[in-house]
Amino acid sequence: CPVPKSANSTASVSPPPGELEHDNVAYYIKKKLNVWCRQPKGKWELGTIQSTSGEKASVSLLNGNVMKVSRLELLPANPDVLEGVDDLIHLSYLNEPSVLHNLQFRYSQDIIYSKAGPILIALNPFKDVHVYGNDLLSDYRQRTIDSPHVYAMADAAYNEMIRDEVNQSIIISGESGSGKTETAKIAMQYLAALGGGSCGIENEVLQTNFILEAFGNAKTSRNDNSSRFSRVVQLANGERSYHIFYQLCAGSSPDLKERLNLRMASEYKYLNQSDCMTIDGVDDAKNFHQLMKALDVVRMSKEDQEHVFKMLAAILWLGNISFNAADNENHIEVVEDEAVTTAASLMGCSSQELMTALSIRKIQAGKDTIAKMLTLRQAIDTRDALAKFIYANLFDWLVEQVNKSLEVGKRRTGRSISILDIYGFESFQDYELDGVDWTKVDFDDNQECLDLFEKKPLGLLSLLDEESNFPRASDLTLANKLKQHLNANPCFKEEMGRAFSVRHYAGEVLYDTNGFLEKNRDPLPSDSIQLLSSCTCELLQLFSKTLNQSQKQSNSFHAGSLDSKKQSVGTKFKGQLFKLMNQLESTTPHFIRCIKPNTKQLPGIYDEDLVLQQLKCCGVLEVVRISRAGYPTRMMHQEFARRYGFLLSEVNTSQDPLSISVSVLQQFNIPPEMYQVGFTKLYLRTGQIAALEDKRKQFL
Ligand code: ADP
Ligand code: MG
Repeated sequence: CPVPKSANSTASVSPPPGELEHDNVAYYIKKKLNVWCRQPKGKWELGTIQSTSGEKASVSLLNGNVMKVSRLELLPANPDVLEGVDDLIHLSYLNEPSVLHNLQFRYSQDIIYSKAGPILIALNPFKDVHVYGNDLLSDYRQRTIDSPHVYAMADAAYNEMIRDEVNQSIIISGESGSGKTETAKIAMQYLAALGGGSCGIENEVLQTNFILEAFGNAKTSRNDNSSRFSRVVQLANGERSYHIFYQLCAGSSPDLKERLNLRMASEYKYLNQSDCMTIDGVDDAKNFHQLMKALDVVRMSKEDQEHVFKMLAAILWLGNISFNAADNENHIEVVEDEAVTTAASLMGCSSQELMTALSIRKIQAGKDTIAKMLTLRQAIDTRDALAKFIYANLFDWLVEQVNKSLEVGKRRTGRSISILDIYGFESFQDYELDGVDWTKVDFDDNQECLDLFEKKPLGLLSLLDEESNFPRASDLTLANKLKQHLNANPCFKEEMGRAFSVRHYAGEVLYDTNGFLEKNRDPLPSDSIQLLSSCTCELLQLFSKTLNQSQKQSNSFHAGSLDSKKQSVGTKFKGQLFKLMNQLESTTPHFIRCIKPNTKQLPGIYDEDLVLQQLKCCGVLEVVRISRAGYPTRMMHQEFARRYGFLLSEVNTSQDPLSISVSVLQQFNIPPEMYQVGFTKLYLRTGQIAALEDKRKQFL
């Protein structure tokens, strides 16, 4: 099947198809063809046109109502034979109501997968839809089923890897709670089964999911099991911290509890600040046992497991450390209680050392070192930075251990399939996508927006780093600097005060620079670093060593400013993103787009607006339209030869349908860029078939 060559130009995209033209309304009336009719609140209903007068049409809806509407409120509906097609490419009309209806029709029958050309669309069912398991797995493997499915896509990736000897990737995107991580697991299960089933490295890979989820996922308001990265110290209502904390508190043995001086989750400030301690249907204790099993599977020693749990308990106890006023100048001292003593003993330092690190900052003034007492805000920030640092490093270390363990068992084939579970655009209330016309999204031309972010020296990230280096900079000075340098970029928009907007390809997003500098610097005061390196806990020593190595060249650390040698969060993130991009660029990609049909996480509810918004912002329909608009007419060679073959001036009956078809095209001077010849079909650009039909009519 040919791929349209000029997919990058919007000119090749036909106008929104299927507007009801003047002259075909009569046809619709005569044939009683269904149309979509927009209701006053914007919803589309099916109906048939009864009559027209001027620009108005009288429409009889399926529900019995008759409406008088402007012709502009009508769109053609697809014929019944196309009801619920498994690839949107097959729809005659690709208008909004048709696409939404097609997906909804399938969803209502628990058919959650559909294709949009090359993309697999996965609607989150929020319930068990019984389309997984060994039987189906082998059906897809043997190709006795070919309906759209993650299995089919994983199978295609596997086959292409073997056939073309090229690495593959399965790129899964979607909003939070749309089903990305579940989909990734389903793909992994398929590939694991191909590789040998319940034993060996494939099983180990699956087991790592428990570990990564326990430490990397948390309950948010959008998803009970959301993959998250920063939420150790602060929680919103209805949200939880990482699962592992609750699992540890609920599931550890009495012995372990005693060694860690562990309490119930509700006794820790880092956990009880939100009103949410449990998740419906989730057994934290049981999951803790599963986690320990998974740690065994990846060959983590019991000793290392104990270290991990110790660090988790240390973080929880750090959160319980409180402060008292020390003088009337806002300075504080640490309350010497169970929290400090337990945290210190878990970390392997004295309570005094920990208390000093949390209440005093040493500042280098010439040759002298001055000790400055901290204010309450500074002390809390220092304590929280320490907790975050330990958790972040613990997570990285775990991933490293898992990878090492998998490396040991790796059978080297030299080829790989990467599965990427990546967040997509989220539709928060503060940005509107309604203004985005999906026919106008031009994908190849995102360069201006990319420049806005990464151009040197005057891109958003460089400017952010530069400002992070000024000790006296503030979020407002940052905002002003951005406005001063970036205003000329059409993707940048000035807003009031500290705010600015960026026109991303999927929509405009308003940013508030509040906290940008601090987050970008991600500071861990040198006193804390020193404390960590003096702790007897091996893991903490390791973490501080890693930190020291990354700042090897830097010998001074200014509190409140970003040392030029220290990598900022933005730069680090950009580096990781580029590494990922490079890795992906050498693969054949397969795309899965996950869609969340409602925000309540409930089965059976299909919120049209929400679905539409997600389809629009990722450009799924654009892809369908482009892949179809390029060569919208497809005809089998036989059919084409039968219909137009007799037009040939020199008829050669011995010719095969393909040659006849090509001869027809040549005789009528159809330019080569107007068609493509496939193995079984001809693909023609808009208007070509109409021209041939004209010739045919003249002849008959
Ligand atoms: P994301 O990673 O996109 O944030 P998840 O993959 O964690 O979302 O999915 C959120 C929730 O939706 C899951 O915990 C599960 O309850 C439900 N879910 C997602 N995909 C499926 C599926 N294929 N079948 C059943 N439930 C699903
Ligand atoms: Mg996820």
